[in-house]
Amino acid sequence: MFHKVLIANRGEIALRIHRACREMGIHTVAVHSTADANAMHVRLADESVCIGPPASKDSYLNMAAILTAATITGADAIHPGVGFLSENADFANMVREHGMAFIGPDPEHLRSMGDKVTAKQTMKDLGVPVVPGSDGAVTDDDEAWAIAERIGYPVLVKAAAGGGGRGMKVAYKREEMHDALNMARTEARNAFGHDAVYLEKYLGHPRHIEVQVVGDNHGNAVHLGERDCSLQRRHQKLLEEGPSPALTDEQRTWIGQRAVDAVRGMGYRSVGTFEFLFEDGEFYFIEMNTRLQVEHPVTEAITGVDLVREQIRVAAGLPLGFGQDDVEIRGHAIECRINAEDPRTFAPSPGQVTNFHAPSGLAVRVDSGLYSGYRIPPFYDSLVAKLIVSGTTRAECLRRLNRALEEFVIEGISTTIPLHAELIHEPDFVSGNYDIHWLQRYVDAKS
Ligand code: ADP
Repeated sequence: MFHKVLIANRGEIALRIHRACREMGIHTVAVHSTADANAMHVRLADESVCIGPPASKDSYLNMAAILTAATITGADAIHPGVGFLSENADFANMVREHGMAFIGPDPEHLRSMGDKVTAKQTMKDLGVPVVPGSDGAVTDDDEAWAIAERIGYPVLVKAAAGGGGRGMKVAYKREEMHDALNMARTEARNAFGHDAVYLEKYLGHPRHIEVQVVGDNHGNAVHLGERDCSLQRRHQKLLEEGPSPALTDEQRTWIGQRAVDAVRGMGYRSVGTFEFLFEDGEFYFIEMNTRLQVEHPVTEAITGVDLVREQIRVAAGLPLGFGQDDVEIRGHAIECRINAEDPRTFAPSPGQVTNFHAPSGLAVRVDSGLYSGYRIPPFYDSLVAKLIVSGTTRAECLRRLNRALEEFVIEGISTTIPLHAELIHEPDFVSGNYDIHWLQRYVDAKS
């Protein structure tokens, strides 16, 4: 097992990784920008190294600075967390070349799944159902029109290198295709440095259902059920739950098996997530995330598996500590992503937290780096806390979530807590009857 892990991330996820390491007896090194010197994970880590100024490109994306920090502290592995360098194949390669382990999959899988065109083709070849669309990147209007005629409008233009909901444009009819292509391409170039785009049928009322998997170096692969992440605004998840209220046990087992077969077929070795859209009883693969996900605690709550621990063990070459038959989905869990944002306008609300009190009690978990007096820097994403609540049934989980949200105190800044408190009383949410467009409609109606 590793002796010392460098955590190349910040915020709640850095803290989450630190916690797993401590429980495994592994020393931790926090790296931080000058803006994060007082962050909770920096305070708790065994060692910390400042790696640059606030801008992410100079600190959390600064590969040379991170590798230097790992070398001088004698770390034997790097955990990239979520976002930042977590899906960067070049970084994973460099970590290996420096004689350290990258806590994540092989660089070849980061690369192939990072290109969504290759990812879809790979899944198709492995027997996983995908969204109808172009077979590869699309370059000109004529080609796009021809494909759109075949699959039918509306059509979604997506960036091959996409992430975070960026580089996506809908064309509802032929006349809109030219602009959609150009806008998606420009956005993709600016955000990812690659302007390849592809086409997908734009589904009208799907749910976002994703399957958690983990594979090891010894040919073992298991799935840990699904998470329903249909509550989204601008393609960004706001609340996730598991199991999905929309699936039958039969559908759950079927899609889980497709994902496990794909993990085996690829020889994938780490935790990962297969994302699907689910509409009218059919699953359509959209992408694979080759890293830990923000919403992983939902799965931890319903399976009892510590995913970060398994990820670290697998990266160290150990076999999975359990098989498919050991995985039992128990009860229900919901995660609320609490962002430092205005709950109506979603304008970012960084600043000083004057008072912080996290809810607790039976089956309530809070992952957050906040504390009273902490100043949230304006330079990074606005996720500041995750509230994860479980119950033996969905109804019990909802009652507990309501109580936990009532207890949650974050003063000095605006957060999305009031929105969450409101949403969980909406009849559509209570009945589990919502698709990926539901939240946007709800928010638009309120504004
Ligand atoms: P990203 O990597 O940017 O998150 P994804 O491919 O995972 O992009 O898609 C993000 C979200 O966009 C999905 O969860 C879904 O809400 C929406 N989306 C993606 N593809 C489609 C599609 N073909 N039809 C309708 N909505 C889609």
